[in-house]
Amino acid sequence: NRKLLMQLKGKETITLDGKKIHLYANIGSVSDVKAVLANDAAGIGLFRSEFLYLEKNTYPTEEEQFQVYRTVAEMMAGKKVIIRTLDIGADKQVDYFNLEKEENPAMGYRAIRICLDRTDIFKTQLRALYRASAYGNISIMYPMIISVDEVRQIKKIVEEVKAELMEQGIKFNEVEQGIMIETPAAVMESEALAGEVDFFSIGTNDLTQYTLAIDRQNPKLDNIYDSHHPAVLKMIQMVVENGHKEGCWVGICGELGADISLTRTFLKMGVDELSVSPSFVLALRKEIREVNISEL
Ligand code: PEP
Ligand code: MG
Repeated sequence: NRKLLMQLKGKETITLDGKKIHLYANIGSVSDVKAVLANDAAGIGLFRSEFLYLEKNTYPTEEEQFQVYRTVAEMMAGKKVIIRTLDIGADKQVDYFNLEKEENPAMGYRAIRICLDRTDIFKTQLRALYRASAYGNISIMYPMIISVDEVRQIKKIVEEVKAELMEQGIKFNEVEQGIMIETPAAVMESEALAGEVDFFSIGTNDLTQYTLAIDRQNPKLDNIYDSHHPAVLKMIQMVVENGHKEGCWVGICGELGADISLTRTFLKMGVDELSVSPSFVLALRKEIREVNISEL
């Protein structure tokens, strides 16, 4: 079976009626890139940058981050690499951040909320990302967004970083900007948000948690933590429609994107991109190549 799938390496991810799907892979560190290439993903749809912060006893420097982002961009040789900015807090605790203990960490001080509060940390990461953009095809994605206002704050900081780099004569490329859609607020605001960014990537792990009000970390609730819940599927449909209205492409980078029992549903909804663990890439390519969207 694996052998049959291997024959799909080098083939396009395209439906029988000609819709190309961007089939990308998720990674959590540089060492995962090997598997991305071995499974012939067309790009990286989610690079969780947290590992840079988790594996150390203090903040990673701009230079350290730059080297990592540049290495991944170069290894992918021009293919798209979507790097998500820092998403710590809740399940991902980093001691040296000295975060206070919280009653509700999943709804707490985390991810983009930390970045917009501690802009020194955020700017360091953005500088490293923009510097690396000169060496490949990098896009940036922001986690846990709930409002247009946040996106405007981010864009202002990005403009400051670009102006600084320009002034210092440091080269960089233009970078596609996207957001994770993983809160119900972002879903409900998706039409307005689509006017602000280039793409959406739906984080079904958190979107399920926040929509169903079920802690994704609580094993006691595993049996009812259901990403197939109609509320979640309707949200995905809504995000695709609102994204497309404003010219955003829309992908899924949560675990649900790899669920073959839903691939046809996602294609029918108009999903443009799926980003999954490298080991699922070829099985999804097989499934997508056998679908005729017009017949669904
Ligand atoms: C998600 O929430 O679906 C997601 C992709 O991000 P993470 O699992 O890293 O929270
Ligand atoms: Mg998430």
